[in-house]
Amino acid sequence: MESAEYRITTAEIDAKGHTFRATGSEITFKGYMSVYVESADTKEEKTKALPKLSDKEEVLLQKSESKQHFTQPPARFSDASLIRELEENGIGRPSTYAPTITTIVSRGYVQRVKKQLIPTELGNVTTDIMKQSFKDIVDVEFTANMEQQLDDVEDGATGYVKVLKEFYPPFEKSLEIAHETVKKVEIKDKVSDVLCDKCGRNMVYKVSKFGKFLACPGYPECKNTMAIRVTTGAKCPKCGSEVLVKQSKKGKTYYGCEKWPKCDFMAWDEPLKDEKCPECGGVLMKKTGRGAKTYCYNENCNYERKNTKK
Ligand SMILES: [Zn+2]
Ligand SMILES: [Zn+2]
Ligand SMILES: [Zn+2]
Repeated sequence: MESAEYRITTAEIDAKGHTFRATGSEITFKGYMSVYVESADTKEEKTKALPKLSDKEEVLLQKSESKQHFTQPPARFSDASLIRELEENGIGRPSTYAPTITTIVSRGYVQRVKKQLIPTELGNVTTDIMKQSFKDIVDVEFTANMEQQLDDVEDGATGYVKVLKEFYPPFEKSLEIAHETVKKVEIKDKVSDVLCDKCGRNMVYKVSKFGKFLACPGYPECKNTMAIRVTTGAKCPKCGSEVLVKQSKKGKTYYGCEKWPKCDFMAWDEPLKDEKCPECGGVLMKKTGRGAKTYCYNENCNYERKNTKK
């Protein structure tokens, strides 16, 4: 169907050196809106017209109100909004969007908190160093251009030697300079309350390619490392052992049995610790998000209910 059309009117009212602005709009052609309107309030809002005004007309102040507005920082990226940004800037190709995000999460440059991607200290420090020493590369246009040049190589429109010749010598120079000028940055490890079982020091959190883990700060005398163990307090529905909170490679939280790989219990939904299935005594699982519910893990039991608020 045709789009709706509006007449938008803006009036600027000057009063003692201040400018007040009012905007009104009215529908001039209903188009699809004659059969479909999103919601009552958008309709209301969109059809508020200004009264007829003429140039230099004097208007009367009826009331004045002062309000304080705070600027909101821009929202953090989510997976979807970051991909949109990459797409708009021509960085990467559809096949590289998801791996890009997986990489920055798994290397500890950003942390996934709920749906937001939040830079870590390591991420911020790395970005600063890159911006300082590799200005030309950490640049939206460079990446998009390189993408174009690689496409040209693929299509045979240009030779790869030429592309490399343009890229590599200046890059090599920046690399040399960076080697000499970038100081070693130390990011303090977060101390955990887990004690090293070899020397008794408090273990610290470390990040590797494979995710977060605990390491002994006594390195190199003590090379002890441990997996991070966060228990849910719930018992494994398969073998009765502890259920641990785990992180997938993509940084998504899941739940797994401590006896893995002997026991293969694994779930995206959290098992409940202080409530058993009222029908069979089995373990209850809590699904959140779309289709949220609490249900029994036991396949032969159909118990389920809506989630209760805590
Ligand atoms: Zn130790
Ligand atoms: Zn188990
Ligand atoms: Zn049950």
